[in-house]
Amino acid sequence: MYKNFQEHLQKELQDIKEAGLYKEERIITSPQDAEISVSTGEKVLNFCMNNYLGLSNDQRLIDASKEALDQRGYGMSSVRFICGTQDMHKELEAKIAEFFGTEDTILYAACFDANGGVFEPLLTAEDAIISDALNHASIIDGVRLCKAQRYRYKNADIADLEEQLKLAQAQRFRLIVTDGVFSMDGNVAPLDKILELAEKYNAMVMVDESHSAGVVGKTGRGVSELYNAKGEVDIITGTLGKAFGGAIGGFTTGRKEVIDMLRQRSRPYLFSNSIPPMVANAGIKMFDIMKESNELQDRLHENTSYFVDKMKSIGFDIKPTESAICAVMLYDAKLSQDFASALLKEGIYVIGFYFPVVPKNEARIRVQLSAAHTREQLDKAIAAFDKVGKELGVLK
Ligand SMILES: *Cc1c(COP(=O)(O)O)cnc(C)c1O
Repeated sequence: MYKNFQEHLQKELQDIKEAGLYKEERIITSPQDAEISVSTGEKVLNFCMNNYLGLSNDQRLIDASKEALDQRGYGMSSVRFICGTQDMHKELEAKIAEFFGTEDTILYAACFDANGGVFEPLLTAEDAIISDALNHASIIDGVRLCKAQRYRYKNADIADLEEQLKLAQAQRFRLIVTDGVFSMDGNVAPLDKILELAEKYNAMVMVDESHSAGVVGKTGRGVSELYNAKGEVDIITGTLGKAFGGAIGGFTTGRKEVIDMLRQRSRPYLFSNSIPPMVANAGIKMFDIMKESNELQDRLHENTSYFVDKMKSIGFDIKPTESAICAVMLYDAKLSQDFASALLKEGIYVIGFYFPVVPKNEARIRVQLSAAHTREQLDKAIAAFDKVGKELGVLK
């Protein structure tokens, strides 16, 4: 049997390669940081990590995880409701709720699981989910697992959302769901207007703050801080795998009864392992750091505006951004790949994205800024962009 299937897979893989969509992995041989070593021996400056606050290699988090390793061992070997809950897990859940100003939190192994397990336990075929067209894959999969009626609105398009909400009046309960920050443009969801429409059309609101938590808003509380809407969003999902230390783990935080129901019925929570104590303890430390000072957010925001302003002033076309994601528009797919390769030769590691990851003729280089980048490193990246931009005829 395998012979036929093997040929089928070989052909499909070949098609992926021919379409130029085959994903190769770069192998890092140092900790994740602003500067990394890769297996080919080079050192490069990293502008494609989700390590927005530079915490992935933070000594305080390393120490907190070592302390938990020594005191509580390596793994939990259990789901939460059997024997997988320690005081650390409960403390971390409480810290996350405090951070977002919500009532309770439930932890998952990843935000992919949080999104995969949030819809099906809460909504039925009588209900409606109204979802932004550019929502993360895990939201799309989570919605697929749920029997609720599906409505889709154009990215961050309030008029279209209103149309869909009118149609969804046929259902019992309505949930609008959106990413906080959309990862390809770096734009934020227009939460103020979404909340107004939710009020008008009697809908609940869920925001996935994975790319925005720790990043957006003066103190990094995400898009609900940006729009001064703390406590108004019914359900927030997020990850510990990006700004918040970058290891592993996700969460859903929000209304008390929602979280309570998820603990009873959410399948990735009930049937998948508990996060290890070292991750829980480092998470606690991380939220303590967030509480103590705003230093990392301040540095990230400074770095982002410095980079964006400089890049615009030397002539690059930059998408409007309200996050730490900066899309340098090149439009042409091949150019985006050539540009990224040339930057790598200059010691700058970035990724060029093109269709179908972004719309046709909207190829770009995505730059992700971090509090870990020094001014010198930013200047080096800007100089490399300038040089390559001139060589490839993007800049005059
Ligand atoms: C990264 C991301 C996720 C997945 O988070 P993991 O914890 O890595 O599974 C989910 N949603 C959004 C919007 C993301 O950007």
